[in-house]
Amino acid sequence: MADQIILRHVTKKFTTKTLGDIVAVDDFNLNVHEGECFSFLGPSGCGKSTTLRMIAGFEDLTEGEIELCGRLVSSSKKNLYVPPEERGLGMVFQAFAVWPHMNVFENVAFPLRIQKVNKVDINRRVAEALHHTSLTGLENTFPSDLSGGQQQRIALARAIVTNPKVMLLDEPLSNLDPKLRETMRFEIKALQRKFNFTIIFVTHDQSEAMAISDRMMVCDMGRIMQIDTPENLYNKPCNRFVHNFLGESTFINVEIRDGKAYPKGHPEQALDLPVPPDAAREMVVATRPNEIALKGPDGTGFTTHIEKRIFLTDRTEYLVSVGNQLLKVQTPHRVAFSEGEACSVHFVEPMWYPADDEQAEKERHRRQLV
Ligand code: ATP
Repeated sequence: MADQIILRHVTKKFTTKTLGDIVAVDDFNLNVHEGECFSFLGPSGCGKSTTLRMIAGFEDLTEGEIELCGRLVSSSKKNLYVPPEERGLGMVFQAFAVWPHMNVFENVAFPLRIQKVNKVDINRRVAEALHHTSLTGLENTFPSDLSGGQQQRIALARAIVTNPKVMLLDEPLSNLDPKLRETMRFEIKALQRKFNFTIIFVTHDQSEAMAISDRMMVCDMGRIMQIDTPENLYNKPCNRFVHNFLGESTFINVEIRDGKAYPKGHPEQALDLPVPPDAAREMVVATRPNEIALKGPDGTGFTTHIEKRIFLTDRTEYLVSVGNQLLKVQTPHRVAFSEGEACSVHFVEPMWYPADDEQAEKERHRRQLV
């Protein structure tokens, strides 16, 4: 499959008055394939919007180059910047609300009028775009008389009317209620199948990204952490950050001695786990709360007690004491322990990561992202 969007060593630096130099995007290398739905995911300040703005052409590059559909559109070395309107992109940005003073027809026709398309073609193409976004019949209505979902569809219709090969969607669903968000997700995917455009989707919402994406990029503080399918990112996160960012996680800090993992603050009893041969002296054992088995204290596993029991609607959550740390475990309701009761903890194939990166935490504070 051809690569439709290519980022090579793309870096963006901002010099700010209060925070000093911020590397918002640090050496991004990325290939998005034709017809792919690719999400940028990460906490606030990780560089999602800056990357999208550079692809759209609203922001220049400190270093690197960007290619769209086989054409170089940004290059710091060649000092080349193709303006946004010449990049052939469809865009739905959260901030790009529909224009309240134009009716639905005029909102959707606007990009074609800019391109000086003739009247007959404008009528035909707007009618098609409205048909595909279920807005037919609302041509003369003004946006303020329409629901949030309908307004979002106007923005989508305005983006597809130019027949773009690449669609940039920046938090396009964030103003909608959860039910409507789900419906609109399906509608975006259906439009993509119909027109076979490539999507870059930016969101804070991990479940939304997982539902819509073929692949996702998880970033943190301007660095790419991992690019993979939603399934692989969840099942094989490359580091503690990605593990923690996608889905629920629980961690135990351990010290490795004589090939055994001792929870910090509990030097007497080791976890009942084979330690990876390349483990450093201090490690983190990571797992999902629902992938830990709790049993009675039968001499196997890690013997301890229940610190707290929380009854949730569809499962019970236990905080289990492991040295001076608390391990979160979620079980079906039928696994019933009471607070203070003795138990044994059994890990099922946990992940191992190096102990916390102090440098990253310092940088997070410097960027005021905590
Ligand atoms: P959010 O989800 O909150 O929108 P984001 O992941 O999109 O965050 P960016 O908006 O790309 O993050 O910002 C990345 C970093 O660059 C942040 O630390 C931000 O403060 C900084 N930044 C972004 N735009 C500018 C700017 N115009 N001037 C100075 N710093 C900026």
